[in-house]
Amino acid sequence: MIMNDLSQSTRGTLYVVPTPIGNLEDITLRALRVLKEAHFVAAEDTRHTKKLLTHFDIHPAELFSYREHNSREAGAKIIALLEQGRSGAVVSDAGMPAISDPGLTIVVDLVKLGYPMVVLPGPNALLTALVGSGLSTEAFSFHGFLDRQAKWRRAALEFLKMRPETLVFYESPHRIHKSLADMHAIFGDRQVVIAKELTKVHERYVRGRLSEWNTLLSPDATRGEMVVLIEGMTAAPVSQEMSNSASIEGESIAQHVNRLMDEGLDKKEAMREVAKARGMSRRAVYQTLLLQE
Ligand code: SAM
Repeated sequence: MIMNDLSQSTRGTLYVVPTPIGNLEDITLRALRVLKEAHFVAAEDTRHTKKLLTHFDIHPAELFSYREHNSREAGAKIIALLEQGRSGAVVSDAGMPAISDPGLTIVVDLVKLGYPMVVLPGPNALLTALVGSGLSTEAFSFHGFLDRQAKWRRAALEFLKMRPETLVFYESPHRIHKSLADMHAIFGDRQVVIAKELTKVHERYVRGRLSEWNTLLSPDATRGEMVVLIEGMTAAPVSQEMSNSASIEGESIAQHVNRLMDEGLDKKEAMREVAKARGMSRRAVYQTLLLQE
């Protein structure tokens, strides 16, 4: 019987179990125990998961498919098994379920229904790439795969252009060059890191600038799995509005805001005054402050 980390519920518990993104040694001891004790394993691709489980000599009583297109029926089956007091696991092909992978629907359903659920921490390409990238980890946002259609891909990038945090994307080898070209056109010449084949023999980080998009990856290096990370909008002037207003009488925007706050204004009022004095929008003042802090 799986050790239930939650209460003494008569219902079973669903464990969300991350699996290796390349190196099999990355599976955790807890993940192995849970998979070993599971009454059932719901997997994105049962053949793929069977290989993984066999490698660890795990033979679940029931292994069935849980993927995007059957998530309704497979979800109902999971709920019925939990209702019978059976505990089990949901896994995807690699990494954390529900991160650009099936899993979210059952998580949402179980949260709504109040069923016991435990998410195990473990392998995940996004966080591994972020830490290895050397870009800021203080604030970042993850956007999964960009749309295949150029117009939607570009619209998404336009939407992200002003964001100050590190931007993280999953990318397919077939579209990497188109995406990098669009990123260069829309973001300008920012730092880019491409984290390739993480945890595998040929793991590497390609670091450069978006202006080098065409030469960063040699033709054969476009194969394999990759995460693309872009630095957020930096303090460098990115628009006429910001470049015109970077300093007034040698005072930075942050110093200007602080001086007005010292003079008795609250932060909101100070930002409004600074925006007025420099002919900037309040949003631009706010974003510049974020970058200067
Ligand atoms: N659920 C997974 C996770 O937690 O990372 C992601 C699954 S998503 C379908 C697959 C994408 O994740 C790949 O196209 C690639 O962008 C990224 N990815 C997965 N494994 C990777 C690896 N070993 N190295 C680099 N990127 C990887």
